[in-house]
Order: sequence, then C-alpha cells, then structure tokens
Amino acid sequence: MNPTVTGFGQLALAAPVLQALQEIGYESPTPIQAESIPPLLEGRDLLGQAQTGTGKTAAFALPLLSRLDLGMKQPQVLVLTPTRELAIQVAEAFQAYARHLAGFHVLPIYGGQAMDTQLRQLRRGVHVVIGTPGRIMDHLRRKSLTLDALKSLVLDEADEMLRMGFIDDVEWILEHTPPERQTALFSATMPEAIRRVAQKHLRDPREVRIKSGTATVSTTQQRYWQVSGLHKLDALTRILEVEDFDAALIFVRTKTETVSLAEKLEARGFAAAALNGDMNQVLRERTIEQLKNQTLDIVVATDIAARGLDVQRISHVFNYDIPCDTEAYVHRIGRTGRAGRAGSAILFVSPREMRMLRAIEKATRQPIEPMHLPSGEAVTDRRVAQFKQQIIDVVESEDLGFLHQVVSQIENEQDLSAHEIAAAMAFLLQRERPLQLRETREPAASRTPKASPARGRPDTKERRSGKPERARKPAPDDMVRYRIEVGRSHEATPGDIVGAIANEAGIDSQYIGQIKLYDDYSTVDLPEGMPQEVFRQLKQVRVRQQKLDISREAGGKTGDRPLKAKTSTAEKSRFHKAKDKPAAAKARRESQPVKEKKRRQLHLPR
Ligand code: AMP
Repeated sequence: MNPTVTGFGQLALAAPVLQALQEIGYESPTPIQAESIPPLLEGRDLLGQAQTGTGKTAAFALPLLSRLDLGMKQPQVLVLTPTRELAIQVAEAFQAYARHLAGFHVLPIYGGQAMDTQLRQLRRGVHVVIGTPGRIMDHLRRKSLTLDALKSLVLDEADEMLRMGFIDDVEWILEHTPPERQTALFSATMPEAIRRVAQKHLRDPREVRIKSGTATVSTTQQRYWQVSGLHKLDALTRILEVEDFDAALIFVRTKTETVSLAEKLEARGFAAAALNGDMNQVLRERTIEQLKNQTLDIVVATDIAARGLDVQRISHVFNYDIPCDTEAYVHRIGRTGRAGRAGSAILFVSPREMRMLRAIEKATRQPIEPMHLPSGEAVTDRRVAQFKQQIIDVVESEDLGFLHQVVSQIENEQDLSAHEIAAAMAFLLQRERPLQLRETREPAASRTPKASPARGRPDTKERRSGKPERARKPAPDDMVRYRIEVGRSHEATPGDIVGAIANEAGIDSQYIGQIKLYDDYSTVDLPEGMPQEVFRQLKQVRVRQQKLDISREAGGKTGDRPLKAKTSTAEKSRFHKAKDKPAAAKARRESQPVKEKKRRQLHLPR
C-alpha cells in the first residue's frame, strides 16, 4: 500500500466528492483506494487485482467522478459489470459519492429492464453508464448509446465476465470506444485470458495488487430466518424487541399488507406506519419525514414505494416477504448500511423459498447467514432491563414526595413491606404488556383446554404453515362454527378463548367445541341455537385486548340467527348462564383455582 496516504484529504479528489466522503464517514482510504486513486486521477490506465469488499468500487468511482465535466451531458464513464445486481450496487455507490455534484446523472443498464425506460433516460443525458455487456452492446448497435465523449472505461470483476462467457462482448465494446480513453481493469484473479485482454487494451497500466484478507467488512450484515413453528409476526416482534435497532424498514408483497402489518405492529406498541403506492406523494413524504425525525421507527413498505429511500437511521431491513427477484433484494437491502453505517438485513424464508435464497446468494455473491430467533428468556431479559431503566429514570427525574407518602400509608395500614408493595405495583404496570414472555410454541396438547371432550387438538400442520387448511372438517351436527377476530398473532390460546366465552358470556365450558387458531382469527364450535342476547354479549367480549366480534363462519351450519321461538328448552339450557351471568360467573370464578383466576383477570401470559 501507499504508506504516505492516511486521509482522503491528501488525495487530489474534487471538493464535492471529499465533502460526500466526510458525510458518509469513511475515515481513511483502503489500500486499493490509496494505490488506485492517484494514478486514475492522473488519467493513467490501471490493472487492479482485488476482491469485492476491498473498497474497489470507491477506488475507481471517486477519481472518475472527480474528473467529470458536468456541463457535458454525454457518457464520459462506462463501467461494465458481469451482473445486473452489481450494476445496481455500483450505480448506487456512484450516486452516493456524487451527492454534491449538482446535475449529476448515472444510469444502470441491464437486460430484463424495459428498453424504453433506458432509452428515455439516455436521451435525457447521463454522465456515467453502468451496465452488463449484452445490453450495452444492444444500445451501441441501436446508437441509442454513443461513446464518442467517453473518457474512462472500467471493467469490473473481469474474471467473472470471462467465466460467464462475456469476454468477447467486452472486447467488442472496447473496440467501439475512443482509443485514447483511460481503462481500468479490476479482477479478483488474473487468469491468462484476462492478462491477454489487459495487454491488448491497456496502455502502460499501473498494477495494483491487494491481497485477500485486507477486505473491509461489508457494512451490512445479512441473515435469514427459516420460517417454522412461530408465526412470522411473532418472530418479527421478537427480533424487534431484542435487536438494537434505530429504525426499521419492512418489506411486504402487497399494498394491503403494508397497512395490515403496520397496524399490527402499532397494536404491539411500535411506532409504525405503511408506505405504499396508494398513498399520495404528500402523505408518502410525510411518512418518510416522520421516519427521519424519529416520530416513526418502523415503515412497512412495498418495493416500489421504497425505491431510492435514503434515511440514514434505517439500521434494519426486514424482508418479511421474500422479494420476487434478486434485483429487488439488492434494492431493498441497499436502504440500510447507508452513509457507511452498520446495517442489518434479515430475510424470512419459508422452506419452499430456500431456492430463492440460494439464487440471491449466488447473484450477490454474498453469504446470507442463518439466524436463530431470540428466545423467550431473551425477550423477557430485555423487557426487564427496560423496566429497570424506566424506574431509575423516574426516581432520578420525578418529584415522588406524595407517592412516598402513599406507599408509607399502605406499609403502615396493611402491614406490608415496601418490597411487597413495589412488586404489586410492578405487577399492575406490566399488566398490558407482561414482562415475562413465555414460549408460545408449546406442544398442541398442552394448548388444548381439557374441559370439553368434543374439542379436538388444533391441527399441527395448519399451525406450522400459519394458513388454514383447505378442506376443513365441518362443525359437528349440533354445533355451529363461529369466527372470532382473535388469533395467534394476538397471542391468544384456546384456553383464553374458552375462558372468555365461558366466563363472560356464561356458556358452560363443556358445551364449547373445537377451537382452531389461525393467524388473525380463530374458529370456535358452539352449540346450535345461541340466544341473541348471548351472541350480542359475545361480540363485545375481549381476549388479549382484542374484541371477539363473533360472527357465523361462512359455510358454517347456521347463521347469526337469533334464537327465539324455535329454541328448544334443551338448547337454551346450554346457554342458561347468560341469563344469570353475574351470579353464575361469580360462582364459577370462585370455583376456579386461585392462580388460574388471577391469571385471567390480569391477562397474564401462560
Ligand atoms: P466494495 O469492495 O467496493 O464492494 O466495498 C465494500 C464496502 O466497503 C462497501 O460497503 C463500502 O461502502 C465500504 N467502503 C469503501 N471504502 C471504504 C473506506 N475507505 N472506509 C470504510 N468503508 C469503505
């Protein structure tokens, strides 16, 4: 390496480029940058042997940007890359380093993208073109791309282009560029065929060789979680609770999902909002502004709505739904690790999508490491730590004089220790969001309440996939299947549902039939002939703070039909408790074991 170069300021880069580097936060040039920038700034050719991760993109982008004539709106720099993913990455790097070059335009060009978009942008005028060989040749043949004003040409990852069979195309392109152009060739390895290209097309190149092992760590850590057992929403909230994140961008497939996931996250206490193409520009800009100014911490977006989003505090990108193609993945994860900060990209993959994961790894040539979900204990530890901090903050900053008196009163009047009082208060405080997260992945049998012999085990296959099975068993003859708007995503268990229906609506638990939990709702079989008053009451009942809003399941045997004259005495008797609800419920509550009773009253998790 060039030992005399310690800071970017010592390199004769253009002032706006240095300003961008300062903001991005690179402290000093990497070895390949220190060695390549000076000769490239002088206009010399370069033969660089370096791998991805060494900072080679900046090694050529910074000097070439510094040499641009922005007044001349013609391609002055052409970068050839083996893949479209790399073309996008390099284009994004140019864009970032050129943020203070007014009027600067860079265009990535690759196959598979609509030709007319590329043609329109080329007509508008660009300074730098980055593309894969095939599509660049197409444009050169059509004359939609002219390279008369080309000053510099970069062959990035030349050995990959050779391996992918592009080397003849590359030579063809080289022959269609002005002979006096500057050429830089980068390759991780130097096979004979690449050396031959270099000898033929480079003039007295400066040779730079960076040993592997000196690579800079890519600023974005990529991980995946293979969806199994736990529902995706639960997995997501667990990660969000335990990971240190500043702001997160979550990608889903559809516009409606952006809204529904944002709402669910809000319900779980996160400052989240949707960002999608249905929102008008003003609303979208407001959402982005709120993310920047920390009013929001999470934005749930579609690919299109989040294109080009540049918010430096995004520390995490979640691929909640796997992207449709590798290019979308590159765009998505490019929203984090901005400005040289550390970023984290997490991908949720179902077993069926593992092939797509491998395709992404191959296309980006970056490994994506498997990750384990934080355990229930880890979530509990985090909640407890936050709780402790809240207490410390309050003790330090609030005037607690009056409350000290109240505590002393309780201490004296009730013969309780301050410790006991504090624990009871803590208990009250955490009622809405218990500090202790118990694993919800219990065996099916333990989740099934014992009370009713008619109740079956929730289907394990169905629970794993998170989707209702297609052909479901109908409700037994004398039962009606109802739908209730509380499900696994609300952390409801069959026990909660039985408890709520039995206690609140006064239905004997022995008459409550099969309960099936789905993601956002559940079904429950109840005896035929539910009186209207019971039905109305059940609509208002809440489980885990979620209104049941009970309705007859489509295709269920009977409707929400009120039961009037047709109701037999026997049918009615199953619901008898609704009538004398307060007394019956009281008696029932009193007959429950104390622990269970308390658990239910206080909404504690199991
Ligand atoms: P590359 O080898 O071009 O793929 O770059 C690998 C990573 O290193 C990218 O995430 C760059 O943002 C980062 N990087 C490039 N130059 C520097 C530098 N001088 N200091 C710190 N990080 C850098």
